[in-house]
Amino acid sequence: MKRSSAGRESLEELEYQQRKLEMIKKRRKQSRIRRMKRRIFRMAAVLVLTAAVFFVVISLSRFSFFRGHIDVAEIEMPDWIQQEYIEPNPNSRPQTPLREVNGVVVHYVGNPGTTAQQNQSYFNSLAQTHENYASSHFIIGMDGEIIQCIPMDEIAYCSNERNYDTLSIECCHPDDTGEFTEETYASLIKLTQWLCETFRLDTSQDVIRHYDVTGKECPRYYVNHPEAWEQFISDLSL
Ligand SMILES: [Zn+2]
Repeated sequence: MKRSSAGRESLEELEYQQRKLEMIKKRRKQSRIRRMKRRIFRMAAVLVLTAAVFFVVISLSRFSFFRGHIDVAEIEMPDWIQQEYIEPNPNSRPQTPLREVNGVVVHYVGNPGTTAQQNQSYFNSLAQTHENYASSHFIIGMDGEIIQCIPMDEIAYCSNERNYDTLSIECCHPDDTGEFTEETYASLIKLTQWLCETFRLDTSQDVIRHYDVTGKECPRYYVNHPEAWEQFISDLSL
């Protein structure tokens, strides 16, 4: 009897030890899982934080100083742009600062046969006549000449709500269709490419028609011939 009771006790002791061992194993496993969970959480937090920083940098680069910030004094103007600034006045050169350039807007003058010089004079005359609010940073003539009327760090009255973050180019045209001459087209390509390079703009996204801002039929030829506009955009990347 004594012997079998001792045997039972040692069996119980063994079972107790086994349970204890299992418990320790279980606890170790649980703490391993907890550590792993913490590690995964930390990694996820780092990933989320990195993504957030990346997002902020991309947003800033899209909308602010990284991209179109203007320091006109530092820009070397090419000699194929004639600077003939119109005189400051409320109707065509209000001298409102243009703080960033996020795009280039293309227009047609809408007055067939007129020269770049005549259009520059018209914008200038608004200082006296006050008959309209209108101007453009650049005018390209039918011979391809380019006149700059407004400094690139001031707004022009040309593209409605996009006056505050774009530069504008008016193009002369021989007739009512609004189609540009080859010379005008070549200069428009050269000027737009130069502006995109200078202000780090994307030629496939940031060059738009006045039509894309307000739905106005301007530049007429490229509103009526969207395929020609697409060709122009693709020519910009050459
Ligand atoms: Zn226009």
